[in-house]
Amino acid sequence: MDIIIQIAYLLAAVLFILGLKRLSSPATARGGNLLGASGMLLAIVATLIHGGLDWTWIVVGFVIGGSVGAFLARWVEMTAMPQMVAVFNGFGGGASALVATAEFLKPATEAATVDVSLTIVLSVLIGTLTFSGSFVAWGKLEGYAERALTYPGQQFINGLLFLGLLAVGVWLTVQPGAPLNIFLVLAALSFIFGILFVMPIGGADMPVVVALLNSFSGLAASAAGFVLSNNALIISGALVGASGLILTNIMCRAMNRSLANVLFSAFGSQVTATAGESMEGKIVRDITPEDAAVMMAYSESVVIIPGYGMAVAQAQHQARELADLLGEKGVEVKFAIHPVAGRMPGHMNVLLAEANVPYDQLFESDDINPEMERTDVALIVGANDVVNPDARTKKDSPLYGMPIINADYAKNSIVMKRSLNPGFAGTDNPIFYNDNNRMLFGDAKKSLTALVAELKKM
Ligand code: NAP
Repeated sequence: MDIIIQIAYLLAAVLFILGLKRLSSPATARGGNLLGASGMLLAIVATLIHGGLDWTWIVVGFVIGGSVGAFLARWVEMTAMPQMVAVFNGFGGGASALVATAEFLKPATEAATVDVSLTIVLSVLIGTLTFSGSFVAWGKLEGYAERALTYPGQQFINGLLFLGLLAVGVWLTVQPGAPLNIFLVLAALSFIFGILFVMPIGGADMPVVVALLNSFSGLAASAAGFVLSNNALIISGALVGASGLILTNIMCRAMNRSLANVLFSAFGSQVTATAGESMEGKIVRDITPEDAAVMMAYSESVVIIPGYGMAVAQAQHQARELADLLGEKGVEVKFAIHPVAGRMPGHMNVLLAEANVPYDQLFESDDINPEMERTDVALIVGANDVVNPDARTKKDSPLYGMPIINADYAKNSIVMKRSLNPGFAGTDNPIFYNDNNRMLFGDAKKSLTALVAELKKM
C-alpha cells in the first residue's frame, strides 16, 4: 500500500511540474491550472486512503473550508483578488504552523529528535510570520496604510527581534521537548516579526512582498511536510517556495531594485509631490469621447496600456471591443502589459484573457517600448504608476528606477481615469500635463463604452 501511495505522490509531483510549466504562457495556463489541480486531488486521495485518519475532523474541515472557499471564489470581486491572494498566502502559512504545533504538542518521545524539532521550528517560524505579514499586506492592498510605516530605530528593532527569534529557534532545536512556554515565545516573536517586517514596505514595492510571502507560505508547507514525513507536501511546498522566489526576482527586476533594497530601505515611505502641489501652474487638456474616437480611428497604430483602474472598472471587455473595432478600421492595435500593473502579478493578463484578447496582441514593456516613438496614440486605461516618467528622472520619487512603459514617447497619449489623483505609489504623474496628452476623465468602463459607440457611428 505504501508503495502505491508514494507512486501517487510522485505522479502528483509530475502533474504539479507540468502544470507550472504550462502556466508560463497565457495560451496554456488554463490547462496548466487543471493539471496542478488534478495533481492535488491525486495527492489528497492518496493521503486519505493511507488510513489512520479521524474522518470526523476531515469531514468537518472539508465542509467548513470548502464552504468558505466556494463562497469566496463565487463572491469576491475580481478587483479584490490581490487581497484574496494575500490572505490565502497567510492561511497557507498559518496552516503549516498549526500542523507543526500539533506535532510539537505530541508526547515528547515522538518529537524528540533534533531534525524533527528543527523542521517544527522552521515551520512555525516561517508559517506564523507569513500569516501575520500577509494580513498586513492585505491591509495595505485594501488601502489601509498603503505607504511604508517607519519609525526611528526600526532596522535596529527588527534586527534585534530577528536575533531573538534565532536564539529561541536554536534553543528549541537543540533541546527537543523544551517547555511549551518557549515554543509560545517562538510563535509570538514570529507573529510580531511578520508584522514589523511588512510594515515598512509600501508604495510601489508591494508586488515584491506579495511574491515573497507566497514563497514563504510554500517553504513553511515544505517544512511541515518534513515534520509529517509527507513527500507530497515537501515537494508541493518546495515548488511553491521556488516559484515564489522566481516571481520575487521577476518583480524586483520589473522595479529595477534588489530584494535587499526593497526589504530594508523603506523606500516607499518617501512622500513626494502630491497632486495638489504639482498641479500649480500646469495645464491639463481634456478630450471628449468623440474627439478621442476620431483621433484613434485615423491613426495607424494604437497601444492600449491597461492598469489597476481597468480592473476596478471591469472594463476589459470594452477594451477588447475597442481594439476589435479599431482593427476593423485598419488600425494596428497592441496591448502593453507592465509586470507590476494592477495589484497582483499577472493581473492584466488574467483580465485580458477573460475578455478573450488574442495573446499575440499582448506585449511586455521591453518589447513594446522600442515601438512607442512610432506609435500614434498611447491609450492609458486606468494605469498611472506604470507610465509615470518621473521613474526615469526624479531621484526622490518612490518610483525612481522602475522601468516604465514609455507612453509619453508616443506621438499622442490619452489618459483615461476619473481625476488627477495619484496611483498606488502616491505620487503625481507629469504625463498628465504634457502638450501631447489628453485626459479622458471618467470611469474607464463608461469612457470605453462611449468610445466604442462613437467608433460604431463612423
Ligand atoms: P496605479 O498606479 O495604482 O493607478 C491606477 C489608477 O487607476 C489610479 O490613478 C486611479 O485614478 C485609476 N482608477 C481607479 N479606478 C478607476 C476607474 N473606475 N476608472 C478609471 N480609472 C480608475 O495603477 P498601475 O499603473 O496599474 O500601477 C500599479 C501600482 O500598484 C504600482 O505602483 C505597483 O507597484 C503597485 N502594486 C502592484 C502589485 C502587483 O503585483 N501588480 C501589487 C501591489 C501593488 P483615479 O482615482 O483618478 O480614477
